[in-house]
Amino acid sequence: MRTISIAIDGPSGAGKSTLAKLLAQKLGYLYVDTGAIYRTVALFAMERGNDPGDEAAVAGLLPQMEIKMAYGTDGLQHMLLNGRDVTEDIRRHAVSKGASQVSALPAVRAFLLEMQRELARRHNVVMDGRDIGTVVLPQADLKIFLTAQAEDRARRRYRELLERGQDADYETVLRDVIQRDEADTSRAISPLRQAEDAVLVDTTGNTLEESLQRLLRLTEERVRHGEE
Ligand code: C5P
Repeated sequence: MRTISIAIDGPSGAGKSTLAKLLAQKLGYLYVDTGAIYRTVALFAMERGNDPGDEAAVAGLLPQMEIKMAYGTDGLQHMLLNGRDVTEDIRRHAVSKGASQVSALPAVRAFLLEMQRELARRHNVVMDGRDIGTVVLPQADLKIFLTAQAEDRARRRYRELLERGQDADYETVLRDVIQRDEADTSRAISPLRQAEDAVLVDTTGNTLEESLQRLLRLTEERVRHGEE
């Protein structure tokens, strides 16, 4: 059976993961958060005392990593690193930076590519990331490039960190969001960019519900018609 894929790319804090998760729930598709996989690689490198930007060191660690995704009855994506549930640990602020560093390493991207494609071959997916529409799933049935102004995105990240009980300072979060986007956009391999056939959705000033309705309408127009 042919599976359906919806690719959602964009900078950090645009609301990708929240919206992708809700969209997947509404459609009954699997939600795949690819950023969580890069975060897991970064966590492993950091816990081993390695610099997440050191290609030789991180590439050497890859064979020691068994990364699995498990979906609980809560429908949430849990990340398992060598059998340990690291779903919470990978959300730490320091790990965000590390993830951005490991994601610029060709060895890491090559290692994770097949894992992501395999999920889309087996399931109907809503997959979010930075290069899903451009590299991972160029044949996706619907591609969305989700963005918002940096201040809006930093506010969301800041609130998320506070909700997780972490120390956060808005100015630092804003600076980091801008730096991370710059790094993701300018890296040589799989940079963050809008695929030519992606629909641009700017969520600045929109409520979650408004943005979700927009995505549902797009799905209805572009994917659901094709199913009939
Ligand atoms: O989406 P999230 O903020 O969790 O992603 C963490 C980092 O992983 C991003 O800043 C980006 O550098 C990297 N990433 C990527 N390609 C993806 C998903 C995430 O390079 N498909």
